[in-house]
Amino acid sequence: MDNPFKAIETKLIHAGDPPEPIEGAVAFPVFQSSTFLSEGAKSYDELKYIRLNNTPNHVSLHKKLAALENAEAALVTASGMAAISATLLALLASGDHFLAQDCLYGGTHDFFTRDLPELGITFDFVTGNDPGSWESHLKPQTRLFYVETITNPLLQVADLERVVSFCKAHNIISVIDNTFASPINFRPPEWGFDISIHSCTKYLNGHSDIVAGAVIGKRDLVEKITRKLNHLGGSLDPHACFLLDRGLKTLAVRMKYHNQSALDIARFLENHQAVKKVYYPGLESHPDHDRAARLLDGFGGMISFELKGGAEEADQFIKKLRIPFVAPSLGGVESLITKPSETSHAGMNPQDREKLGISESFIRLSVGLEATQDLIDDIKQALEQS
Ligand code: PLP
Repeated sequence: MDNPFKAIETKLIHAGDPPEPIEGAVAFPVFQSSTFLSEGAKSYDELKYIRLNNTPNHVSLHKKLAALENAEAALVTASGMAAISATLLALLASGDHFLAQDCLYGGTHDFFTRDLPELGITFDFVTGNDPGSWESHLKPQTRLFYVETITNPLLQVADLERVVSFCKAHNIISVIDNTFASPINFRPPEWGFDISIHSCTKYLNGHSDIVAGAVIGKRDLVEKITRKLNHLGGSLDPHACFLLDRGLKTLAVRMKYHNQSALDIARFLENHQAVKKVYYPGLESHPDHDRAARLLDGFGGMISFELKGGAEEADQFIKKLRIPFVAPSLGGVESLITKPSETSHAGMNPQDREKLGISESFIRLSVGLEATQDLIDDIKQALEQS
């Protein structure tokens, strides 16, 4: 019989479920047990233990996450950074080199620039939109290329098809952080990426109440990363697995609303005289718009912008808002606003930040699920008072 869970909306609800509901429960129960009876286990890998990422809550989530991106395998992790660090530590060794897109989440940027060189792993930052320049940074020891689907916080969409063909041509592993797009808007394995990473803290969970991560992709690579994670100890607790699974069930409806609301708000901002520049890949004015429209099924819920005034005006504007919370992170049901120079990218040195265009007046808005018109009215009153 064919699999009835075809569309992503259906997979979000049912993929990974046991063949029969456990004790008749329609929600998959939480198995809050650190260890399980070892009888019948023939090897260490068959022992069930939370740190080994193989308890029933892990296994069911792994199946669901793999199904969402049409991938061979998946792994949940204790945070997005646990997914990123375990992936790079599993796939790279001392002496290896990799390429990384030059605008990335601040925590990833810090891990690359501060931690990996200490382990003898080197890299070069490259421009995502300039494939011609990639070749010149290639070395015999280059093993991996790391990009983000929609970059944090500049919301660039790199030439992702060329990233994949470049990696295949040079026999290097392609890794993409798909957090900002979510599997609703982009499914990296369908485009040939080897590994897709998520901070599930954001859209996948969607309720700003847990920290979690995921690695999705080719089975042999996911298994290698799982072994590394088992040693590093960054496993997700079963209760957090349960919450993530619950959040995932509404991902499709949430994401479609985020996509539409952010587009409407980006259009409003672009037409407001107090606004200098809006960064949103769904706007025709965005330099990567055509590519984003071709690759993505939606442009996501993140908007960045700058006001005509400087840092002081940006602070005044943020203070006058009444709906969005002033907080880092993103992808939740509530709108969140922040200045990346003070939060997500505060660890970066100021010169690097300025070089990328993340000034002190640069604002990032995570559009939540409040009524779009309420958010527009709130932004308007704050712009017109500041
Ligand atoms: N990737 C991106 C694009 C992010 O924005 C973040 C966090 O903001 C992370 C990864 C790290 O995720 P976590 O905070 O869950 O470790």
